[in-house]
This record gives sequence, structure tokens and C-alpha cells, in this order.
Amino acid sequence: MTAEIISGKELSAQKREEMKYRTQELKEQGIIPGLAVILVGEDPASQSYVRGKQRACEETGIHSELYELPESTTEEELLGRIRELNDAQHIDGILVQLPLPSHISEDAVIDAIVPEKDVDGFHPVNIGRMMIGREAFLPCTPAGIVEMVKSREISIEGRHVVVIGRSNIVGKPAGQLFLNENATVTYCHSRTENMKEIAAQADILVVAVGKEEFVGREYIKPGAVVIDVGVNRNSEGNLTGDVKFEEVKEVASYLTPVPGGVGPMTITMLLNNTIESAQKRRR
Ligand code: NAP
Repeated sequence: MTAEIISGKELSAQKREEMKYRTQELKEQGIIPGLAVILVGEDPASQSYVRGKQRACEETGIHSELYELPESTTEEELLGRIRELNDAQHIDGILVQLPLPSHISEDAVIDAIVPEKDVDGFHPVNIGRMMIGREAFLPCTPAGIVEMVKSREISIEGRHVVVIGRSNIVGKPAGQLFLNENATVTYCHSRTENMKEIAAQADILVVAVGKEEFVGREYIKPGAVVIDVGVNRNSEGNLTGDVKFEEVKEVASYLTPVPGGVGPMTITMLLNNTIESAQKRRR
């Protein structure tokens, strides 16, 4: 068996075309969705993620504003900026690029964004709403993963989904979204025993560990759907996932690539949340 590749790049291109129509319609009503992006410090990876998000906004008809703050910014200064943006009528979404310098509490920053503008879906109110199946901004990477699976009409209900990784921004909410779709969900993490055996029972395996080539064919049930969330840089400086792509491709039925997989879908879901926020807030 050779897996079919689910291209996040192609799926994103389709979805962003649809979004252009939505922003055009809003523009005709005098509404331009607005996203504020705050970057603290000069981490090159964060700078590159932020540029990618801004470019995507421009292409989709979303107004974006970048606030580049120095590494020395205090928590109070950052919270003050967030409060201003909470009150800004033309801003529908606020995104603070993580990670933050160690002297700033990420929890305090996430809590300071009003849930109505939390287009990253990280605020406890949105996480709680998601958990109990209420309308919420869904965290972008997990939402993108589910969209990728649905794009191939792969059934989720009743299937066994195994998620390796339990971070608050990827693993935990990814499992929750699959549970909301009536899957049976198992989480694995650094303390899990017999992980290979558990992973090899998965109909859908989500890998979000952050370790290059972590998952090989021995983790995969023949015909499983494999979603590789990892973003690592190998010794040659190239982006790689957490999955041994070439060998897993021979056993899985579907597989997502890195780059060009979950990454572009994450940005696409951010654009979607921003447009939805504009539609809700300014109706
Ligand atoms: P994270 O916060 O570092 O979490 C990693 C998870 O992997 C933790 O739950 C950890 O378990 C688990 N883990 C670590 N070593 C393990 C091991 N040996 N066996 C089993 N589990 C292990 O990372 P994250 O933010 O979730 O991100 C995961 C990966 O996805 C990273 O490569 C990141 O760059 C990437 N990512 C990609 C996107 C995208 O848009 N494509 C978005 C976000 C993140 P414990 O909880 O027990 O420590």
C-alpha cells in the first residue's frame, strides 16, 4: 500500500479562495476583518511565522497590524497593549505569537485577550466551550487537522484516534475535537507505557511530539490515517516532521507531509476564525 498524501497546501489554497469571497462580501457591507499580531523579541522562527500569517491575511482580504515589541517589554506593557486592542473596533482578532520571553507569563497574556477576539482559541473560555461542545473559536492547529481528515471523507465516528502529545495547544484539543466527532480517543505522552502497541491500534494517528523521525512503521496499523504535526529542523537545516515519511507512506492509507501539511492549515483556520469574528462582532 502507498498512502495518499493529504496536502495541507492544496486544501488551504481552496479554502482561502472561498474566504476571499467572504471578505469581499463583508467589504461590500463596509466591514474589513482585522487581525492584530503581537511579536515580542526577535526570535527568527517567530518572525517567519508572523510574516507568513501577515502575507496570508493580505492575500485573503484581511487587514493585519503587526506590533513588534522589544524583548525588554514588561508584562504590564504587553497587557496594556492587549487591553487597547480589546477595545479597538476595527480589530476582530488578537494573536500574541508564542513563545514569549521568560519574564512574561503566557497564562496572563492569554487570559487578557477578550474571548470574542481570541482567534487562536487558547483562552480558557474558548477551551471550556469547546470541551462542552458549545460554539467557540477552535484552536487553529487541531481544527486544521480535523479539516484535513474530513476533506477525504474519512469516517471519524466510532474510529480509534490515538494522539501522541498532550500540549494545551495541539495534543489535548486535537483529541477533544475528535471526541466531539464521536471518535474513541487515546492520548499518549512521555510517561506512556507500551506506546508502540497503543499507536498500532489507531485508525487515525496524530503525532505532535516535536522530535524528528519519532514515529516509524512499527507504530502504524496497516491502512491507518497518519497526521504529522511536528515541525523540526534536521541537521541540513530542512523542515521535517515527527514521522518517518518514506517508510510510513508504505503502510498508511493517508499521510500528511511536512512541510506543506498541517502548517498551512493552521494559518487557514486562523484566517477563518478572524473572518468569523468580524461576521459575529459587526453584524
Ligand atoms: P510540546 O508542548 O513540546 O508537547 C510535546 C508533547 O509530546 C508533550 O505532551 C510530551 O509529553 C510529548 N512527548 C515528548 N517526548 C515524548 C516521548 N518520548 N514519548 C511520548 N510523548 C512525548 O509541543 P507542541 O506545542 O504540542 O508541538 C508539538 C510539535 O508540533 C512541535 O514539533 C511543534 O513545532 C509542532 N507544531 C506545529 C504546528 C503547525 O502548525 N504545524 C503548530 C503547533 C506545533 P509530556 O506532556 O509528558 O511532556
